[in-house]
Amino acid sequence: LMDLYMPLNWFGTYYRAIQKNFVDMENMFDLLKEDQEIFDAPGAAPLITAGAGIEFSNVTFGYSPEKIVLRNVSFSVPPGKTVAIVGPSGAGKSTIVRLLFRFYDVQSGAVLIDGQNIKLVQQQSLRKAIGVVPQDTVLFNNTIFYNIEYGKIGARADEVYEAARLADIHERILGFPERYETKVGERGLRLSGGEKQRVAIARTLLKAPVLVLLDEATSALDTNTERNIQAALSRVCANRTTIVIAHRLSTIINADEILVLKDGNIAERGRHEELLQRKDGVYAEMWMQQLKNLESDGEGEKNVNTKDKPPTEDA
Ligand code: ATP
Repeated sequence: LMDLYMPLNWFGTYYRAIQKNFVDMENMFDLLKEDQEIFDAPGAAPLITAGAGIEFSNVTFGYSPEKIVLRNVSFSVPPGKTVAIVGPSGAGKSTIVRLLFRFYDVQSGAVLIDGQNIKLVQQQSLRKAIGVVPQDTVLFNNTIFYNIEYGKIGARADEVYEAARLADIHERILGFPERYETKVGERGLRLSGGEKQRVAIARTLLKAPVLVLLDEATSALDTNTERNIQAALSRVCANRTTIVIAHRLSTIINADEILVLKDGNIAERGRHEELLQRKDGVYAEMWMQQLKNLESDGEGEKNVNTKDKPPTEDA
């Protein structure tokens, strides 16, 4: 009976993950070819990236025309810089990154990368330029090697190992029963949330995209894990144009610009220190709230989330 349900289940999981966390969108496009509404424009040229600056110019978008999710949103991310998007649930944060990946087309306005409207470039070239580190990585029922190599199919073994090293998971893999040949995923070794995130980081390092979309996990990892992951993440984002959907204080502080999204509009924007200065500001209030939560969680080294102790799994 289990076997009968497996494919359906798997598809359900995948579909939900995609819609919600833009997990592994490259693959999803193949899976949903039938429903695909996004096509290459006739004669579309490949995206040509230099520094990979991003521009959202007066973007208005709704999943259905009568319910607008983003209204006249404009911002830019200069080449190599990091912009963090914060805001309450449902504000449209994930929608922004889905639009950048051209999961959907904007209703009006335009999304540009290095001055090219993404609507007019070959989708394949667009997706090749973007690396995604999702909140929750879906692993393939395959070896850990395959799962990392997926970032650059045909990569040499030493490239895969190097990516794993930089993502701080190489040593861990060497401890698995069959090292890099260990099967992972739902039907193999179950990886913890932190480990899965590292796989995503390794994949992205291997892919070496010019542009990185990072959807930070909301659930707290323990402080040590957190620190190591931050280090690995900063390797992914270094010198790459990055958009982060931020939930953690650390990313927010260092971002070149923070966009506070509220009800489909950018309510506030600026650097951390600037936004904190605003009396009654949305950001200042969110910040105070986060600090309070940290304190009530016991802060620092004691802040261990038992839920995330390995080896757990969700997928
Ligand atoms: P969260 O922090 O909870 O992830 P978010 O700021 O990322 O929220 P979005 O996922 O961008 O919010 O959603 C913005 C709005 O669009 C919400 O009202 C949401 O219900 C709606 N929405 C999101 N995805 C879809 C979809 N596939 N179809 C229809 N409506 C959607």
